[in-house]
Amino acid sequence: METPILPMKGDPGDANELYIKREDLLPFSMGGNKVRIAEAYFRDMIEKGCRSMVIYGSRHSNLCRVLSALCASRGVPCRMICSHEEGEASEATNNTVLVEWTGTQMVHCGKQNIAATVESVMGELEREGKAPYYIFGNQYGTGNEGTAAAAYALAYEEILRYEKRQGISFDYIFLPSGTGATQSGLICGKLLAGDQASVMGVMISSREPKRAREVIRQGVASYFEKTGKELPEGYETEICLLDQYRQGGYGAYDERIEACIRETYCRTGVPLDPVYTAKAFWGMKEYLRENRIKGKKVLFLHTGGGPLFYDYLGKKKC
Ligand SMILES: *Cc1c(COP(=O)(O)O)cnc(C)c1O
Repeated sequence: METPILPMKGDPGDANELYIKREDLLPFSMGGNKVRIAEAYFRDMIEKGCRSMVIYGSRHSNLCRVLSALCASRGVPCRMICSHEEGEASEATNNTVLVEWTGTQMVHCGKQNIAATVESVMGELEREGKAPYYIFGNQYGTGNEGTAAAAYALAYEEILRYEKRQGISFDYIFLPSGTGATQSGLICGKLLAGDQASVMGVMISSREPKRAREVIRQGVASYFEKTGKELPEGYETEICLLDQYRQGGYGAYDERIEACIRETYCRTGVPLDPVYTAKAFWGMKEYLRENRIKGKKVLFLHTGGGPLFYDYLGKKKC
């Protein structure tokens, strides 16, 4: 389903024309980029002849929420490996509550034990004859980068169609970048179309920036390999990843993000969550201002995260 792209009212005196693509309005499990990505993983699981799904994420994970709902709705057994940062609070979020609703069994682990936990959960399901599929490939989380990227290579065509209909072209596309799957896909879509927009990932994870870039590079390369298309020379230069707006890292935010959430809601009615979309939206505005970028057409990809917006609301007085 095509999601709307709409002009977005910016701050008074904004120097650029802002647009927003509402991936948060995708009609399954409260939407977000993970709806497209979950469908791509599910299809890949079937194609590989697997019959159960092993998913991985933090307690904020929108991917785990959507994938567990997709598995439940299609009668496929699902297990979630839930990782915890050292010293992080481990209370439930709206997303983990919804994962539990689906009957998905949750296995908790620390950031140091991910590979061993993936191996043990996969081994268990194999012994039960359930032919498990791990969404991120091997126990180290590599080998399946191209699958999720494909979803956003395809979504890029929606952006191209909008540009054509409106007779405009975007100079920039900003988005929150976590695992990098969405950004990889957009870069693939851009390369395939020979489009001119710069795809700007605003890092929201605690990942080391060099490694994050490498994961995106692998995502792009593996999509081109999988689809038998020729990878354009110099494609690496398309990977723009901003690491200076992460504040304290994944899930951490201060009053600048909180102000951004309130102001964006009051000005435009668009909800942003502090972990992903508000951080990226704020980072985008900072970047445009710091670099004195003016008169450009800028698209923000609203990647969803609705349940986290409500987590935030639930804890703060308005
Ligand atoms: C997962 C997620 C992202 C990041 O997408 P990646 O493909 O992992 O980089 C951004 N925003 C929201 C709301 C998400 O759930």
